[in-house]
Amino acid sequence: MTTHDEPNPYESALTQLHAAAEILHLDSGVLGGLRKPHREFTVNFPVEMDDGSVRTFTGYRVQHNDARGPYKGGIRYSAHVSLDEVRALAMWMTWKCAIVNLPYGGAKGGVIVDPAELSDCELENLSRRFISELEPIIGPDRDIPAPDMGTNSRVMAWMMDTYSMAHGHTVRAVVTGKPVQIGGSEGRFEATGRGVLFATEEIAKRRGDSLDELRVAVQGFGQVGSVAARLLHESGARVVTVSDAAGGYYNGNGLDIPALIARADERGMIQGDPPGADRISNAEVIEIDCDYLIPAAIENVILESNADRIEAGVIVEAANGPTTPAAEAILLDRGRTIVPDVLANAGGVSVSYMEWVQDLQSFFWEEDEVNQRLARIMRKAFAQVWDSAEARGLSLRDAANVLGVERVVSATELRGIFP
Ligand code: NAD
Repeated sequence: MTTHDEPNPYESALTQLHAAAEILHLDSGVLGGLRKPHREFTVNFPVEMDDGSVRTFTGYRVQHNDARGPYKGGIRYSAHVSLDEVRALAMWMTWKCAIVNLPYGGAKGGVIVDPAELSDCELENLSRRFISELEPIIGPDRDIPAPDMGTNSRVMAWMMDTYSMAHGHTVRAVVTGKPVQIGGSEGRFEATGRGVLFATEEIAKRRGDSLDELRVAVQGFGQVGSVAARLLHESGARVVTVSDAAGGYYNGNGLDIPALIARADERGMIQGDPPGADRISNAEVIEIDCDYLIPAAIENVILESNADRIEAGVIVEAANGPTTPAAEAILLDRGRTIVPDVLANAGGVSVSYMEWVQDLQSFFWEEDEVNQRLARIMRKAFAQVWDSAEARGLSLRDAANVLGVERVVSATELRGIFP
């Protein structure tokens, strides 16, 4: 969400890039090439609504950098999508893929729409039309979309089908995050949340914290937040708070996470009035008394204005861009640890990569194999970022971005500038 009073996510992303560039003593010409996305595609397209009227929607696909491989990144449906938000998300994808060492560049897409306002038929029509608008710039070896906030495996199925119809044959590898029946990967739905669990385990290990003694708060109860909450609950942590867009639920003794999941709809909204849970606001969720805070919803929830009041000692960023640079400076001053989004939520794109590989080979893996590979990717990247932060006296975000930017710059230098 970007309003006049709210920090612009693209400016936050640029501030973070500049911090990494300074540490790396990057040449200004090289930095100039990383500041701006390679390509920005805006489409305004009509969709016929159920009542016969026609509405025009605006959508974006921003391709930030493909030095390391095809562009990769999710598609978001939200009323708050803006070009600057998509630019920021695309840049973060570039660093994220490089940090976990996937052969991908970074991209992101979005449509300005509240999906809750659309019927199933309208949602399908919008998804099919949007992906056909993107057809000239996407493809299995060009740019591979995936789900993000407001989209899911059902939307990915429509998108894969639409692209396939245009090409006259089934092209499974054009999007990831599909249902397993049509070329999705086992473990993809849980992948981002499972990666958040691995990142949480890694930081806990290094701080000497034991998961079963931790009180955890999770903001957002969708594809990422609900899975992270469930896996942390199953690992023995006390999940004291969860929330959706309407507000939070609190129980100091730990919430019954499976019962809350049973009440959540496809859009991550908890229905009814769950017993044993007090209602709190989303602002209170961020400031709740807990050990680890896991923002798993939207950008700009940890701000200069509330950073002083955050109780959690560790913040594991499951969402993209939840913490502004100004808030981060305050939190680091207060001795808090932030496991940055580009590392903490990289589990999703890691299993998307595995889905793409399986689709290209038409050879599918068991869930165990996917989860083991995911654990290896996440734990290795975490160790590299942690060791670099320790050795160079950097925050985890700076260390992660330095690793990502360095890998992208190295690929650019090896390839050279065309012509
Ligand atoms: P989702 O649409 O499945 O769920 C979003 C959740 O956030 C819902 O519970 C919704 O009610 C809640 N929410 C929405 N607006 C809110 C608000 N203003 N305050 C509090 N809660 C609010 O989305 P998701 O896929 O779980 O994505 C969540 C975050 O994780 C996003 O930042 C996304 O970019 C990031 N992410 C997602 C993936 C993925 O694989 N889906 C991968 C990496 C990162």
